[in-house]
Amino acid sequence: MTTQNYDVIIIGAGAAGLMCALTAGYRGRSVLLIDHANKPGKKILMSGGGRCNFTNLNSTPANFLSDNPHYCISALKRYTPQHFLDLVERHGIEHEEKAAGQLFCKESSKEILNMLLTECEWAGAEVRLKTSVKTISGVDHGYQLQTNSGTLTCESLVIACGGLSIPTMGATGFGYDIAKQFGLAILPIRAGLVPFTLHPELKEQLAPLSGVSCPVDVHCNNEHFREPMLVTHRGLSGPSMLQISSFWHPGDSLSVNML
Ligand SMILES: Cc1cc2nc3c(=O)[nH]c(=O)nc-3n(C[C@H](O)[C@H](O)[C@H](O)COP(=O)(O)OP(=O)(O)OC[C@H]3O[C@@H](n4cnc5c(N)ncnc54)[C@H](O)[C@@H]3O)c2cc1C
Repeated sequence: MTTQNYDVIIIGAGAAGLMCALTAGYRGRSVLLIDHANKPGKKILMSGGGRCNFTNLNSTPANFLSDNPHYCISALKRYTPQHFLDLVERHGIEHEEKAAGQLFCKESSKEILNMLLTECEWAGAEVRLKTSVKTISGVDHGYQLQTNSGTLTCESLVIACGGLSIPTMGATGFGYDIAKQFGLAILPIRAGLVPFTLHPELKEQLAPLSGVSCPVDVHCNNEHFREPMLVTHRGLSGPSMLQISSFWHPGDSLSVNML
């Protein structure tokens, strides 16, 4: 098999990889976006309960947890929620505001995925699925990848293969392995923006309330969120629990004020 050369190769055809591919394509670079899964953007399809909460008009750098807040400030200045909304509207996707600033598709998350794939096509970015990367090595002026569909080389390589959650949607620790291979420092990883599972005794006590949602004020580690909580068959979910989970560490207690 011959070696194929691109300006940019992006590994991972999720939300991040698709956005990156179309942006690089519009900058006039030759782009290949590869994914080992059989379909792109599987997590986009399940987002927002199938209707993708595609942006929040009120989001500011203060909503992002980072040791480098300046990065969020500069990134959000260059690409605002309105930029994404303009793109959605250019594609005629009907949307609605559910809670303050939260924009969802009226029909389906599929529309957001189709929009990103169409933009990739217009930008001339090639999407190649069922492609696994065996090795990556640094070469003069770029990278060489050995894949199940042959040898690829590129000047810029983007790792956009997501986090570890939901392996059935294609998630792997590949990004962390590559970061280690190239000697990058990796912060300890932990779950964030996730529901809580409860110990069996507490789960049993709360089982009759499964499906019930109510507004609460939840506190942990000097943070609090006053938003709805949902009791599920596994534990506690809903916006308040997803938000506070990013501040919770194993062993910490949560205080939930329902009054
Ligand atoms: C239930 C649920 C609901 C959500 N709802 C929303 C919402 O409404 N709004 C919102 O903004 N966010 C939502 N999110 C979060 C959002 O889905 C993710 O933040 C986003 O999809 C992450 O995109 P990503 O491109 O970084 O990673 P991913 O979507 O995980 O994409 C990574 C891609 O890389 C591929 N990959 C992995 N390893 C390899 C490898 N070794 N070789 C080749 N390819 C590889 C995977 O197959 C995958 O296609 C939700 C998440 C969940 C789980």
